[in-house]
Amino acid sequence: MNENYLILLGLGNDAKSEGKSLAEQIDAVLPQTQCTQCDFDGCKPYSEAIVSGEAEINQCPPGGQDGVDALAELLGRQTLKLNETHGETKPRRIAIVDEKACIGCTLCIKACPVDAFVGSSKVMTQVIGKECTGCDLCLPVCPVDCIDMLESKPYEKILQQDSAQFNNALNQRQILERSIRDNSRERYQFHQARLERDKRERDELLKSRTIALKEKMLKDKAQKEKIEAAIRRVKDSKKNETN
Ligand code: SF4
Ligand code: SF4
Ligand code: SF4
Repeated sequence: MNENYLILLGLGNDAKSEGKSLAEQIDAVLPQTQCTQCDFDGCKPYSEAIVSGEAEINQCPPGGQDGVDALAELLGRQTLKLNETHGETKPRRIAIVDEKACIGCTLCIKACPVDAFVGSSKVMTQVIGKECTGCDLCLPVCPVDCIDMLESKPYEKILQQDSAQFNNALNQRQILERSIRDNSRERYQFHQARLERDKRERDELLKSRTIALKEKMLKDKAQKEKIEAAIRRVKDSKKNETN
């Protein structure tokens, strides 16, 4: 049987036996690439959409047909053909930056869903290879086209062996796959939490600035009224003097 399918199914079943929610069981089978090709903002939102019936199980190109089959098995449904309108299944890859061409614009840093870039404004940017999920989201934003994707293989295909050796190798791969996915999931969650915190801070800053501006406008208005009243008084007294 296909080893990739078995690994994915095993990850979903582990989540089930750990008492995780249905969305978490589905998320365990999803690749954690966080590429948004499924039309959702990441693997967890897609898993929630499957649970709510908003999405089909065949919208994840990085998971491929094995992923669709494993989801179908986990959910006790008929499998579907991978919907290729969402994109093609590619081998696992990581991004690399051409250091000579990079202008340090930081657009890729903002686009990365798992914070896999190091660098800052006007400083050459680099990718931390082990954190990159190969989501491609940094490619379209780079103004000088200096990011390339390289195929990465965390492990080779299991060679024909007896069933005990096959199961042992499969087990090792599942442990490795799980740790890669857990890492990507955590980094994605951290990234999302940071975005939410930044938005909250921006909203609070905007609110306090608006309040300060309104207070200033009221103060300016009161001052203007005071000056106008003073001018009126001076004019009235001058008028009285001439009469
Ligand atoms: S890997 Fe991409 S397409 Fe698949 S569920 Fe995650 S975000 Fe969606
Ligand atoms: S470095 Fe690029 S390809 Fe890698 S995870 Fe970040 S955005 Fe995706
Ligand atoms: S988007 Fe391209 S040019 Fe800009 S910092 Fe990233 S790699 Fe460098």
